[in-house]
Amino acid sequence: MSGMKLTALTAALATAALTATAQAQAPAQPAAPPPYATTKVEGTDNVYIFRYGGHQSMFVVTKAGVIATDPIGERRPAAKAYIEEIQKITKAPIKYVIYSHGHYDHIAGGQPFKDLGATFVAHRNAKKRIAELKPADVVVPDQVVDTDKTITLGGTVLELHYVGRNHSDSTLVMRLPKEKIIYTVDWIPLQAVQFRGLADTYVPDIEQGLKKVIAMDWDKLIPGHPGPGGRQTGTKDDARNALAYLQDLSAAAKKAVDEGKSYADAQKDIKLPKYESWGGYGPFLPMNVERYYDFWNRGI
Ligand SMILES: [Zn+2]
Repeated sequence: MSGMKLTALTAALATAALTATAQAQAPAQPAAPPPYATTKVEGTDNVYIFRYGGHQSMFVVTKAGVIATDPIGERRPAAKAYIEEIQKITKAPIKYVIYSHGHYDHIAGGQPFKDLGATFVAHRNAKKRIAELKPADVVVPDQVVDTDKTITLGGTVLELHYVGRNHSDSTLVMRLPKEKIIYTVDWIPLQAVQFRGLADTYVPDIEQGLKKVIAMDWDKLIPGHPGPGGRQTGTKDDARNALAYLQDLSAAAKKAVDEGKSYADAQKDIKLPKYESWGGYGPFLPMNVERYYDFWNRGI
């Protein structure tokens, strides 16, 4: 081997060694999750979660077609990715898109599903709100649910239940009785306090609704957002904890009102250390307090 070749070989080996070292050191920072991903729900043959950014929705694959839920496509091309992900699993037609509730961050962007002939289903109050406000890029539902509706497709049964007003006046609880899974969005967060000032949320109805959901027969909850560490499903304990949080929050706000505290003092003084590790605790607890202070102070 000539001197030139040897030098080149040495250089190449040195580069390879450096690359290997760099790769070994790379995982110091965890990699950012990919923009979207599809996961099969453990213990099922045909129930999937499609996640795009921090939103997720459920879809169910049957021989006769697919039941999809929220397009989660507000100002982003999520529905295109969602459809491509479904079509990697099955070429069966997407028969339904069911809206979890009326909020645009979950239901916008469904037009690509409509173009494929899907039937859109939502609670009657969601359709009413969409018809009034005419948000850009939200497909108007074809069918509505008042209290209960059952969709049967290719041997799969999906129940749609309305348990009253909670995080909105149009929230459905979708239940797969055979699989014992529910999909319901934004009001039973996984280890997180409620979002900001609980806009559009009905107090105390949300607590009554939680009791109804806890009494239903299911093992696994698919929420609209993953929890800490990217956890995509919850259990009844998560629902019980979400209810306990609201009850503790409510009791603390009532006490502050009874003691004649101002809004500002109640927001400053109320701490719920049991929930300190939950998502949103720092920024949102004072806003959650304000909502419950209003309830106890003014009955609103
Ligand atoms: Zn919402």
